[in-house]
Amino acid sequence: MIDLEEKVTVVTGGTRGIGLEIVRTFCENNAKVVLFGSRKETVDKALNQLKKEGFNVKGYYPNLSDFDEVSNVMKEIHSEYGHIDILINNAGISANKKIEDTELNDFIKIMDLNVNAMFNTSKAVIPFMKEQKGGVILNTSSMVSIYGQPSGVGYPASKFAVNGLTKSLARELAPDNIRVNAVAPGITKTDMVASLPEEMIKPLIATIPLGRIGEPKDIANAFLFLASPMASYITGVILQVDGAARN
Ligand code: NAD
Repeated sequence: MIDLEEKVTVVTGGTRGIGLEIVRTFCENNAKVVLFGSRKETVDKALNQLKKEGFNVKGYYPNLSDFDEVSNVMKEIHSEYGHIDILINNAGISANKKIEDTELNDFIKIMDLNVNAMFNTSKAVIPFMKEQKGGVILNTSSMVSIYGQPSGVGYPASKFAVNGLTKSLARELAPDNIRVNAVAPGITKTDMVASLPEEMIKPLIATIPLGRIGEPKDIANAFLFLASPMASYITGVILQVDGAARN
């Protein structure tokens, strides 16, 4: 166990998949966790599940595209706990259509959640982190941010932007003792992957030297490490957690 000393941790996209496992892992390691989801029903479902497991977590569902809404929720969390120590920008959607079947609006929708929302949540917590002279921002990237992918161009484009945002904010915020890193998961067992056709998954596994797709816990553990004092000299890094997949 790593003792996160009741650090207040906000996790976007925390209702299922990788985000829910991050929430669970941070609770197991003594963080105070607040999760964000897209709707009341999914947030309530996740909170009930976590309660059954013995974890007391709070939840919100701000529209991540609306800076004022995000900022108000962050202010509410800050006034309740007195600080926000760790922000995990994990909410994301993917795409797999060919470009000729993709409308500009589909592209904009992906950029809006995967990139613009990350800008909004980060901008909303940075003043608190500066004031308290420290913090950690962790972003969920993807292995497609290294290699691209053969369809669904908006998704890799958004994750390349996530890496740019991560590396640049790391440099901008280092003097304020705020570390900014990203985890770039390979293919991981979540709903996002369950919706992909079998013929797309099988050949992917064949390219993974460790011979399996990732479990949400594999990814959550990387976030835990990067959030912990063990990573105190690490910032601006895109940590690949992908079984050495090279796609
Ligand atoms: P998932 O679909 O299981 O979960 C997505 C999460 O994002 C949910 O909690 C959902 O509430 C939230 N979300 C979706 N749309 C939203 C919206 N409009 N507003 C607010 N929240 C919204 O997906 P996952 O596989 O757990 O993916 C989580 C992150 O990991 C994403 O950023 C994804 O790009 C990244 N990722 C996943 C894989 C994989 O193979 N599963 C690989 C690489 C990167």
